[in-house]
Amino acid sequence: MECKEVEALIIPFIKYELNEEQLQGFLNHIETCSNCKEELEIYYTVYEGMKGLDEDDFTTYNLKDALLYQIEKGKIYLKEIHGYKVFKYALTTLCVLGLIDSLLIQFRIWLL
Ligand SMILES: [Zn+2]
Repeated sequence: MECKEVEALIIPFIKYELNEEQLQGFLNHIETCSNCKEELEIYYTVYEGMKGLDEDDFTTYNLKDALLYQIEKGKIYLKEIHGYKVFKYALTTLCVLGLIDSLLIQFRIWLL
């Protein structure tokens, strides 16, 4: 993913609006590009700061930790999705093997 694309996804990221593919590309880029990470921190601080002012509960809330938490949450979400896909694949494989097994047993019954 290019820096330009990542910049366009910063606000959607903060609002939890990215799909799986966008989130993966976004987080991978943020890990390796300090410019975009800095940009994200600035946007996040401004966005959450404004939200806090609007909601009138803006105390000494640590925005940097909150951002790190959101990034971690994104990574966990991607891992969960990945785990689910592996599980689904394993289950499908087992079902197919079970079906093949049943067919082989059936053929043996017919042939012998
Ligand atoms: Zn970048």
